[in-house]
Amino acid sequence: MKNLSSSKDAITKIEEQLIQLLLKRHKLVQELQTNDGISFESLFTRMVHLAKKKKDEQMIKAMEDIFKGLSDKKKEKTFLYSREHQKEDTIVTVNHERIGNGDPHLIMGPCAVESYQQVREVAAVLAQKGVKLLRGGAFKPRTSPYDFQGLGLEGLEILSRVAREHNMAVVTEIMSVDQIEEAIPLVDVIQVGSRNMQNFSLLKELGQIDKPILLKRGLSATMEEFKLAAEYILSYGNKKVILCERGIRTYETATRNTLDISAVPILKQETHLPVIVDVTHSTGRKDLLAPAAKAALAIGADGIMAEVHPDPVNALSDSKQQMNLDEFEEFYSEIQPFLKRNQYEQ
Ligand code: PEP
Ligand code: MN
Repeated sequence: MKNLSSSKDAITKIEEQLIQLLLKRHKLVQELQTNDGISFESLFTRMVHLAKKKKDEQMIKAMEDIFKGLSDKKKEKTFLYSREHQKEDTIVTVNHERIGNGDPHLIMGPCAVESYQQVREVAAVLAQKGVKLLRGGAFKPRTSPYDFQGLGLEGLEILSRVAREHNMAVVTEIMSVDQIEEAIPLVDVIQVGSRNMQNFSLLKELGQIDKPILLKRGLSATMEEFKLAAEYILSYGNKKVILCERGIRTYETATRNTLDISAVPILKQETHLPVIVDVTHSTGRKDLLAPAAKAALAIGADGIMAEVHPDPVNALSDSKQQMNLDEFEEFYSEIQPFLKRNQYEQ
């Protein structure tokens, strides 16, 4: 039998050598002038990866044994979006609107900004009902490159001007990193569209600005993918994230997308972020807007997004699904009992 104390001495010697090696590694990593790779966690990730690359079963097993506690901890990581990380609801303040405070909020306006006159006509009717968040697309993510792509910066200027006239806040989509800078002074909430939910470079940039972000669920995104997309923004420092369920692709053709109503309580339970529902792009059907909005509010949504246009028949995008002004009035009176007294006209 081996002498116990000589084994212990040998282990201590190895540990001293390991310290020297770690020191050497630390200096080299520092020379790269980055914090990447410096932590014990990244050392662990790299070593397990190397062992796996060598396909040496004994080595893989040893790495896993040595780093067991750490790998368990890694699995238990609490995400910034999670209720474990933050128990209380996040409230995102936009002008005087406190989204996530328990009151329902309405985000309404045309699909796309087409002209000053068009936005003004809609905004006047919305403002009269107490709607404080004006939506409208200036950069439009269209399926076909031949369709109207939006007015760009001019559209943002129109939206911002009309919003100011009615004391409303601007919610609009930004499609790429290079549009952020010009949008910042004109926009109150930056929307990340469904097609861009996993545009990670955009999410990282938006994580570094001080503006609320309305993140729409991807066309085919799972809850997990949606939450992780929000994590990108949060992890870069921007805590003002609003989630938006806008329907997902399924085999069903009766509606434009399938409104995943259960996403609302799931996201409310598993995250502390406000959750709103876009009834226009999910159902794609005017006859379903009010029922879907009522369902969303009843199940706990913090707000509703819907599209309103003064002349939907001639709209440059989504002409079939936008409400005209009379339809908006009807929609509004149907959902009115679900809205809190203090804010909206009764
Ligand atoms: C929109 O809200 O203008 C839009 C294009 O929606 P989505 O990204 O959900 O398709
Ligand atoms: Mn639209």
